[in-house]
Amino acid sequence: MRTVYLDNNATTPVLPEVFEAMRTFSTELYGNPSSVHRLGSGGAKAMRDARRSMAKLLGCEDSEIIFTSCGTESDNLAIHGILDAVQGKHIVVAVVEHPAVMNPLRRLSKLGSELTILDVDADGMLDLETLRNSLRDDTALVTVMLANNETGTIYPLEEIASIAGARGIPLLVDAVQALGKIPIDLTTLRADALALSAHKFHGPKGVGLLFLRKGTPCNATILGGSQERGLRPGTENVAGIVAMAKACELAISHLDDYQTRVRAMRDRFEAALLERIPDSYVHGARAPRLPNTSSMCFRGIDGPSLLVMLDEVGICASAGSACKSGAGKPSHVLSAMGVSLDDAIGTMRFSLSTLTTEEDIDYALEHIPAVVTRMRG
Ligand code: PLP
Repeated sequence: MRTVYLDNNATTPVLPEVFEAMRTFSTELYGNPSSVHRLGSGGAKAMRDARRSMAKLLGCEDSEIIFTSCGTESDNLAIHGILDAVQGKHIVVAVVEHPAVMNPLRRLSKLGSELTILDVDADGMLDLETLRNSLRDDTALVTVMLANNETGTIYPLEEIASIAGARGIPLLVDAVQALGKIPIDLTTLRADALALSAHKFHGPKGVGLLFLRKGTPCNATILGGSQERGLRPGTENVAGIVAMAKACELAISHLDDYQTRVRAMRDRFEAALLERIPDSYVHGARAPRLPNTSSMCFRGIDGPSLLVMLDEVGICASAGSACKSGAGKPSHVLSAMGVSLDDAIGTMRFSLSTLTTEEDIDYALEHIPAVVTRMRG
């Protein structure tokens, strides 16, 4: 049976060139990069090269990159590190943020921080005037994601950065879903901190980075050695870091393919499902969206059950919410967009990549409407 992987916002397969880049640093140059001998210094040099290459690709300086273990860690380091280093206890956040941002902020609010949670409209968009008016003299951090993991909605971060920047308030951007799908240029996007994760752009799991603009106050949150300027102590994941730099280079070289071929496949997929499945719609259809993401509601369907049935025919996707019978709540993103509980439960997320083929889409289009019809029957 064919496997059609349409869950690339959850994670992506490691590309062969990326896997190959890791091998040497796991089996040959395996020394601790802090060791002076050749097996350590070889890794340290590879890490310096990886840092330089990623800095160039992102438009920042080498010293502004801190390697971490994942997107969640990068978000947590920025939130706790900046909040610890600046005055003020007020934080402004978009309601649609990933739990990697929302959960640390919720804990901080229990410890005395004040949160302003910005609402979104039915398409998932923020109102920039509301954002501007929410800023206070004691606002210590603004955090808005570049693209949403569930719906693919893209937020106008350059404008948000200028609103926060005009008040001198640090801005954290969770760009975990964006790299490789839309351009990221830190010379024009004036974020103070930006989180990335390798496994979302065909790198390995367990490695990410935090861009921290020079001069942004940030204290270490894990204490230990002096790795990553003391901001992220712990022996570095050399193989993972080298692989992430390779994956980043390939992802950026595939940007055009995302904007053209992947977008066209996603649009064909959506249009065909809308035509073949009555009572269906796309979430956030009127907002700017990532070219690979399709969040679709099939009314009356139990998403998690559909997920299992699609898996049985080899199609891998994600459900928009936990099942009706489970204790799970609907997705906070869909709820914020005003989607009803039933529609949230009937929502599926399909996410493509440059490895997705027209044949994959044909196969998915052959099976999804049939499975939905069977379930509704
Ligand atoms: N932020 C966003 C927008 C995400 O989509 C994810 C993962 O799905 C994360 C953060 C967390 O990344 P990681 O899995 O690398 O911890």
